[in-house]
Amino acid sequence: MLNWEQIDHVLLDMDGTLLDLRFDTEFWLEHLPGRYADANELSHDEALAHIRTRMHALSGQLGWYCIDEWSSALGLDVVALKRELAEGIRYRDTAVAFLEALAATDKRALIVTNAHPETVGIKLHRTGLDRYVDGVVSSHDYGAAKEDQSFWHDLQANHVFEPDRTLFIDDNLPVLRAARQFGIAHLLAVSHPDSGQAAKDTEEFDAIQWFTEIMPIARGNSE
Ligand SMILES: [Mg+2]
Repeated sequence: MLNWEQIDHVLLDMDGTLLDLRFDTEFWLEHLPGRYADANELSHDEALAHIRTRMHALSGQLGWYCIDEWSSALGLDVVALKRELAEGIRYRDTAVAFLEALAATDKRALIVTNAHPETVGIKLHRTGLDRYVDGVVSSHDYGAAKEDQSFWHDLQANHVFEPDRTLFIDDNLPVLRAARQFGIAHLLAVSHPDSGQAAKDTEEFDAIQWFTEIMPIARGNSE
């Protein structure tokens, strides 16, 4: 599926790609609505409906991913609520083996995430993910979500990479389409981002379920 000799740079999404999306699903659909319901004397379903309405209004925009805006909109400390659940932050199966193998190659690897820097901080603290890669970029640093072409222009200006020699892996299909529009040649979706849910249709994109399907081989170890 992948010819590693054609790839110099690897861009990796965080949530749902390297980390199990189950944490985020439980946070947004269970934990946060529960706390919002308690604070506002609502039922869980009423609180969830309120949160879902805001999610739909902001879908694909940086505001969706902005914890500060969520905190002020809901009157809750969303960062503190995420910390309460932090033990549930986990790698997807095979992600660590893949990151170790990738780090043993001469390819440059970056995490590129829409997660807010505060959330990135919680997840890096919990997993140590950043030790395997050359950098971690939050789209908040550039003021534009990965769905937006300006994110990709800013990323390339700050971290030089050749789009036609770059692999990007993400579980978010609109984000993959934005990367394709920018010219990134090697794109892979993730078919099973959330261990608590069924596998999903990745539409026009080739997909991996587990990283064992695309393990790189360190230079010098191949023959
Ligand atoms: Mg993701």
